[in-house]
Amino acid sequence: MNGSERPATGDHTQSRSMMALRSGEIELAIIVLTDGFRTDVVHELTRSGDLPNISSHVLAEGSHFDGVTVFPSVTNVAYLPMLTGQYPGKANIPGIRWLDKAKFKSGNLFDEGQRTYVGAAHTKLNSDLPDTLETLFELCPDSMAFRSDIHRGLPNGHNRFYKLSHPWMFLSHYLKRADFIDSLVMRSVQGALRERAANLPRFIFLPMLDVDSASHARGPLHKRTYDAYRRIDSAIGALVDRLKKLGVWSKTHLMIVSDHGHSKTDEHLDLSRMVTELGYGVFEHPNIFRSKADAAVAVSGNSFANLYVSFDGKWERPLNGDELDSQHKKLLNALTDRPEIEWIAYRNGEGSIKVDSGLGTALLGRDEGHYDYSYFGADPLQLGLPHTRVVRDDALEMTIDTQFPDALEQLSQLFSSQRTGDIVVTSKPGFDLRGWRELPEHRSSHGALRRDHMMVPILSNRPLAENGPMRTVDVFPTIAESLELTTTRSVIGHSLW
Ligand SMILES: [Zn+2]
Repeated sequence: MNGSERPATGDHTQSRSMMALRSGEIELAIIVLTDGFRTDVVHELTRSGDLPNISSHVLAEGSHFDGVTVFPSVTNVAYLPMLTGQYPGKANIPGIRWLDKAKFKSGNLFDEGQRTYVGAAHTKLNSDLPDTLETLFELCPDSMAFRSDIHRGLPNGHNRFYKLSHPWMFLSHYLKRADFIDSLVMRSVQGALRERAANLPRFIFLPMLDVDSASHARGPLHKRTYDAYRRIDSAIGALVDRLKKLGVWSKTHLMIVSDHGHSKTDEHLDLSRMVTELGYGVFEHPNIFRSKADAAVAVSGNSFANLYVSFDGKWERPLNGDELDSQHKKLLNALTDRPEIEWIAYRNGEGSIKVDSGLGTALLGRDEGHYDYSYFGADPLQLGLPHTRVVRDDALEMTIDTQFPDALEQLSQLFSSQRTGDIVVTSKPGFDLRGWRELPEHRSSHGALRRDHMMVPILSNRPLAENGPMRTVDVFPTIAESLELTTTRSVIGHSLW
């Protein structure tokens, strides 16, 4: 990406103080989470006039940035930075499926020690969130969300169209479309705004799923996927019209942010079968009753997987590189030999991380304020960095234009969770890792650290002062400042005001 793609709208050289004033007049903040929006498609469709509502209501006087999401770049997990100001690693939710090796027992009928947020168990996402972080709903009790799987802190009845959506979501999955879910959600939004006209909430969270579903079903650049972008644009137009009628639009801060991009998928590597063929007994969702497993495969997105293995026949804790080498060398080699796999990453002891592509190995270390990055052979992350020490605050800027944006920070945060796999596996563009279990078949994927998955639009109807590279984790403190709320837990990002 060149610089011209990043900051986009306008020259915001007005004084910061004037912009800061704008946050003082905000009565309502809204995040529309446009699941699966690709930055390049948003640029293309705004240029061609195909997103007229976003262009006129949001971008005309606001800001258009391309930011970086989190690793793994997958739905709900990648909502966490916006809704909690934290990374998935710190939230201890390293994927939409995971294992906690300290608690896991294969053949156990209960879900202690393992999780999938696909299907009915998604409700656990809220109780799984640690108390060391707070949700925007807890920070701003006068909030409302619409069909939000993350809803900790929302009063009863304030997560509209949530329970009612369950049968529809089931249908949506098999019909490979979410346009009708989004329209039911929008009907609920309109109803709620009319009903609360005299007493509007201060914060609204509105996830929209049409583009993600259409991308998985047909591919990220298919014309019917582009239609889904247009439908979401119309929905945003209807939302703004309603806010204008209620007289509150001029006091509204609207942000449109995505959780991940997408890349086209032509072939599937059945990672679970591959590990089985190496002689492992594999635990995998939804088949959770397998006894005597000595490996577990937890795929997200489906270009990302946490892969767990036992040591001396036991599941106790994450393993380091020496332990993997001593008992699972064949598995490591088989993974890096596969043409579908981009690289694998694992803990290397003493807090460092090893990334291995088969053609080269990188070592990532971290102390208080720095990353140390070195490699031998070909750099698996293609960062174009010399063997070097990077100040942590510069890590985003130094990697944002590469094929693996923000790789140092994102790998580091992911491995801070004890639930992250012994081995993290990502697939190359064109492939995913889920095999026959993903029905209907996916034609597009996300979850990996690849640019296509990591770069996301961050749009604001008000001009934000920050111009540099940014992350979705900055959205939380931005909304907090819009509403003049002081966060009570530590957050990673900084306000974009
Ligand atoms: Zn998806």
